Amino acid sequence: MSFLNISYRPSSLSQVIGQEAIVKALARSLLEDISPSAFLFYGIRGVGKTTLARILAYSFACLSPVNGEACSSCPSCQAFKNGSHLDITELDAASRTGVDDIREIINACQYTPVIGRSKVFIIDEIHMLSKSAFNALLKTLEEPPTHVKFIFATTEVNKVPDTILSRCLIFQLRPISLETLSNHLITVAEKDNIKLTKDASDLIADEAGGSVRDALSLLKQASLLSEKVTTEVVASIIGGVQPRDIKNLLTLISEGRVADASICVKSMLASGADALSIYKQLQKALYAEIVEKKNNKSELTRLLYLWQVLLKQYENISNTAYPDCIIGATVIMLAHVASFPDIGSILNSSGNGNGKIEEILSLFPKSIVSEVE
Ligand SMILES: [Zn+2]
Repeated sequence: MSFLNISYRPSSLSQVIGQEAIVKALARSLLEDISPSAFLFYGIRGVGKTTLARILAYSFACLSPVNGEACSSCPSCQAFKNGSHLDITELDAASRTGVDDIREIINACQYTPVIGRSKVFIIDEIHMLSKSAFNALLKTLEEPPTHVKFIFATTEVNKVPDTILSRCLIFQLRPISLETLSNHLITVAEKDNIKLTKDASDLIADEAGGSVRDALSLLKQASLLSEKVTTEVVASIIGGVQPRDIKNLLTLISEGRVADASICVKSMLASGADALSIYKQLQKALYAEIVEKKNNKSELTRLLYLWQVLLKQYENISNTAYPDCIIGATVIMLAHVASFPDIGSILNSSGNGNGKIEEILSLFPKSIVSEVE
């Protein structure tokens, strides 16, 4: 196995996945050489902010760019690839938040590049800078030397002062779609000789929630556990919940089969599944079912009802010493509610559903959950 290559990062815009519109805009600005002095990328972790920042830095520093992008062979590009580029500085604002750290950068701006075409400063998690650091930076951003580029990245753009934002070309990076992420995992696995099934790849992509970094990290963990990465292997990492068990459980619940649903969840727990993971996976599966049945009014009413019942258990399951009991009781409650002959008519009997959830829940002992506890 050669899973160590899994940290592979794109080095050109065309290799970046899931951010087509941004890539197109950046490629054009590089090609036409109309890039501003400061860029800001924001979005959740692992969607490509640092990757794009480095690709831009690589291109801005390159001595003989090809179509605006780094040539990969000039002295500047060589230095970048060796990780020893004197004109490209990366600063993690999460650990260096003070005004002195920014002053170092501002002083360095005065000097022309040593080996590259531009001097580039990448500041990650820029929202963490102190107020005085932002003020110091702003002065340079207002009148940047022509040979200097700033590239900022953040997960919390709302914490970056407007004065800074107004000086930047801003790009919002979206979470990577499940399909794109899953396909990417399959490509990476092939390159690294990891056997990965399509179902397992989908499961990893789903669990990663749009983050390439999280997805690759899960793939790496799974490939360390087994020669072949299957849904079973992935499930063992993400709380021991098998997708087929969740599907089965949801079917039993929807059909109102209280006893069978209860046996199903007990057997999942017995085989090592984590209660909170069952809860979360059940929530995801129910949501998917709701989306699928959105045009079927009678089924939708029933599913939305189950949704409300399920949501109300989140606090209980997260704050208990007995999560297995809570998930067991929750499943019984859901299946029982689903077994009611006509939830739709109960809901509609007073014109709207307001307050009806409480009415249905009141059919149970005061708190079924605390009694179980
Ligand atoms: Zn070059």
